[in-house]
Amino acid sequence: MSTVVYWFRNDLRLEDNPGFKAAVEENTAVIPVYVLDESWLYKTQFGIKRMGNFRLNFLLESLSELKENLKAIGSDLLVKVGNPLEQIPAIYQQYNCAGVYAQALVAYEETTLQTALNHLVPCKFVWGHTLFHERYLPFRIIDTPGVFTDFRKAVEKNAKVRPVIKSPLNVKSPDNFGNEVPTPEKLGFERPFYDERSVLNFAGGESQGLERLNYYLWEKELLCNYKQTRNGLIGGDYSSKFSPWLAHGCISPRQIYWQVKKFEKYIKKNSSTYWLIFELIWRDFFQFVALQHGAKLYRRKGITSKEKITWSTNKHFHLWAGGQTTEPFVDANMNELNRTGFMSNRGRQVVASYLIHRMRIDWRLGAAYFEKMLIDHDPASNYGNWLYIAGIGNDPRGGREFNIERQTQQYDAEGNYVKLWA
Ligand SMILES: Cc1cc2nc3c(=O)[nH]c(=O)nc-3n(C[C@H](O)[C@H](O)[C@H](O)COP(=O)(O)OP(=O)(O)OC[C@H]3O[C@@H](n4cnc5c(N)ncnc54)[C@H](O)[C@@H]3O)c2cc1C
Repeated sequence: MSTVVYWFRNDLRLEDNPGFKAAVEENTAVIPVYVLDESWLYKTQFGIKRMGNFRLNFLLESLSELKENLKAIGSDLLVKVGNPLEQIPAIYQQYNCAGVYAQALVAYEETTLQTALNHLVPCKFVWGHTLFHERYLPFRIIDTPGVFTDFRKAVEKNAKVRPVIKSPLNVKSPDNFGNEVPTPEKLGFERPFYDERSVLNFAGGESQGLERLNYYLWEKELLCNYKQTRNGLIGGDYSSKFSPWLAHGCISPRQIYWQVKKFEKYIKKNSSTYWLIFELIWRDFFQFVALQHGAKLYRRKGITSKEKITWSTNKHFHLWAGGQTTEPFVDANMNELNRTGFMSNRGRQVVASYLIHRMRIDWRLGAAYFEKMLIDHDPASNYGNWLYIAGIGNDPRGGREFNIERQTQQYDAEGNYVKLWA
């Protein structure tokens, strides 16, 4: 008879969750737990809070749905606020558990936490966060190709996307261990205000993620034109908007992949259908780069050996963050981020380039601000993209400086976006 803790992290779903499935199949009883890490809730970096109310609200909604879904298969969810290194061992002891299962993650803080927890209690970390499984990559993590194209070609040729795993149908858990998911107010946060200009009214949870997938592929067949529309700026339909659900693990990249394959079989196969998978491979690239480089991802000089940029003072950072640079396209994007927790990929590239290459402000402040504000914040994608634009990632082609005037002309020629978010 073994009871184990299942520690949910960025995998807030039951379908295609290999870690949770393994915990259920390999043990008699499972206690599903989520720890709201107090260091995200209440700590700052560069004076910037780590988690803002958009992401927190999405996370709490995702937990509420996870709890309901767990109840439907005979279990429940215990939500704690605190330090996972204290909370998880305490639950482990209280229920006389045999071990702890969880999803393996990639970024430095997350892997450090895994190692530390493993010293306190026996843990099993299961891979489930990427399109390609770490174990079946055609290279060792330390040899992850530094250039995206090399990475993509290697995985496309020599790795396979594994099938989606079904949710467990029944879970045995101790009686009455679950509790309420806290509200934002209870945690000292304000509930975010919905701005009608938002690209979507994002709602957290597994069913919401699957609903979005269904809408984008099957209901509207927007996937057919993804490659042409993905650089848009206004409205819900220009790109998939899967990122918040992917970042919290409400859906998995494999679920998307196999739906795209089905779409290609039954509806259409074209460069757009391929391009969505291509973008998911970008996501994988940043995940494996984060695992490869650990703490270097967070250094000012990034993963390079010496500083490449002459940084200026940070004293005008607040102008960038507050959408007051006097560069209308940058300001409009920052206004959107501040009011909705979301910004298009085009916008992210432009504002990051502006902070780094025009204002010469330490990129880490920009990344920290994105970490706080983005509803879809993911450490590997966020820090990896910032490094890439600063030219201090592992791509040898140097930084990506975007010409703002040309970008505005190309993507907002009529000025509709700037007007919307002025
Ligand atoms: C400075 C900067 C910071 C970023 N921070 C984040 C972040 O914290 N979290 C995050 O999920 N994405 C981040 N991105 C990547 C990208 O901007 C978002 O994934 C995308 O805008 C989300 O919208 P979508 O789901 O409609 O994307 P789509 O265009 O529909 O793409 C589908 C999926 O592919 C993945 N993807 C697409 N582009 C990228 C990319 N450049 N890097 C990694 N994955 C990608 C995402 O998972 C996305 O949901 C960042 C990009 C930049 C330039």
